[in-house]
Amino acid sequence: MDCWHCRRTAVGLCRFCGRSVCENHALTRPYILELFQGPLGTRALVVEDALHCGACTVRPDPVPLPELDGP
Ligand SMILES: [Zn+2]
Ligand SMILES: [Zn+2]
Repeated sequence: MDCWHCRRTAVGLCRFCGRSVCENHALTRPYILELFQGPLGTRALVVEDALHCGACTVRPDPVPLPELDGP
């Protein structure tokens, strides 16, 4: 598997889009593992340094999918 950016041997996969990246192009950014409702409101379980390829765009907020919420 080669890096998306430079074709060197990749060291990992982007957590967000699945592209492979080498050590020079690997970035990190917080990744939300899970959202849950608690007495203090909605909380997120976050991985602080998930691997990011730098090529894909991650929206800062989850996108609402009202179609999936049902009636
Ligand atoms: Zn690279
Ligand atoms: Zn990516």
